[in-house]
Amino acid sequence: MSTEDRTIAIVGAGQAGGWAAQTLRSEGFGGRIVLIGDEAHRPYERPPLSKSVLAGEALAETTSLQKPEAFDALNVDWRPRMSATRIDRASKQLHLSGGDVVGYDKLILCTGGRARRLRIPGSELPGIFTLRSIDDAAALGAALAPGKRLLVVGGGWIGLEVAATARRKGLDVTVVEAMHRLCERTVPPEISAYLLRLHASHGVRVELGTGIERLAQGANDAGLLATLVDGRTLACDVVLAGIGLVANDELAREAGLQCEGGIVVDPQCRSCDPDILAAGDVAVWHCERAGRRMRLESWQNAQEQGIAAARSALGIEVSHQPLPWFWSDQYGINLQIFGMPAPEHRAVVRGDMQSDSFVVFFLDVGKVAAALGPNAARDLRFARRLIERGTNVDASQLADPQVPLSKL
Ligand code: ADP
Repeated sequence: MSTEDRTIAIVGAGQAGGWAAQTLRSEGFGGRIVLIGDEAHRPYERPPLSKSVLAGEALAETTSLQKPEAFDALNVDWRPRMSATRIDRASKQLHLSGGDVVGYDKLILCTGGRARRLRIPGSELPGIFTLRSIDDAAALGAALAPGKRLLVVGGGWIGLEVAATARRKGLDVTVVEAMHRLCERTVPPEISAYLLRLHASHGVRVELGTGIERLAQGANDAGLLATLVDGRTLACDVVLAGIGLVANDELAREAGLQCEGGIVVDPQCRSCDPDILAAGDVAVWHCERAGRRMRLESWQNAQEQGIAAARSALGIEVSHQPLPWFWSDQYGINLQIFGMPAPEHRAVVRGDMQSDSFVVFFLDVGKVAAALGPNAARDLRFARRLIERGTNVDASQLADPQVPLSKL
């Protein structure tokens, strides 16, 4: 069969799906590409949704992956506001909401995830939001009026970025985090402490090690009343639940594909069915650096794995093993993370952790395994090379800001 006769279907028109479609064309695939997305929007990038778009400083359209003309030029059979409801692996057919059936030669699942919702009494009241999509950002942004009281449930990245944006818009902000430190899942204690100090210095109240037990309408239209597990009550007007992501792997699971909180894929992005691939937030893969299977919820992974899956679907040799890279912008500070810090690593600090610019290196027997810090893009670029090259380093040199990292 010539490639012109082949169909590659992509489910999920987010960042991974958008990159997959674009890569199929840039690699010369001349067949049919069907791109199915349940949102009304063309593929877009999510990072600005909790920052400039939420602040009302950038239009939602600026997040588009491709300009409309460039997207049209890909000649993709795009099905907006449409969901895939069933995969028939035996006949290689994809069933869509509305009744259409699409036959495929290869299928790439980029279904991402959905924001986990609060499941407590009162969690269906008006004024309670989650943030994942452009439409979510529009709804939450409209509710974030100066002078209002915002309660953020979850001190992870979404929660903290929304807290920072809301402070800039003049809201009163409280963050409630179940764990005993911020971003516990993704950063070591040193950085949690820095984030706590940063938010406190901008007037955010942070309540650690507690949760919300219930929400109720306040008396006389006085907003919402949140009851914490320790019995205290908190009055607020708007609640954002930033309590993590649930992978959209139901479609794959119902088709009998191996799933472990996401679709399990190999370094070639293939599921246990070699004609079905997965990429982005929904994909679970074995990260050699971390030494375990995981999902990587990041801009970088959505792009790189989307590209890798498209190439793999075309029979090109790929091995998806990125050095994890993540960033966050809060109060004008840019925090970046390269690699995966682990508790067994030795932390080495370069610079003053009480300032707004420093780097913490994480050493794994003499080699840098991870590095992170605020406002240190230049040093982190060198750190990234040290990680990638597996250079043996001297901790005292790393710790000395007088020794340029380029020398190491
Ligand atoms: P997100 O992308 O939503 O920010 P993260 O996993 O980075 O996801 O952060 C979610 C945070 O929410 C975690 O720090 C987690 O401990 C916290 N969390 C989860 N459930 C609750 C809850 N019910 N109350 C308070 N915090 C919660």
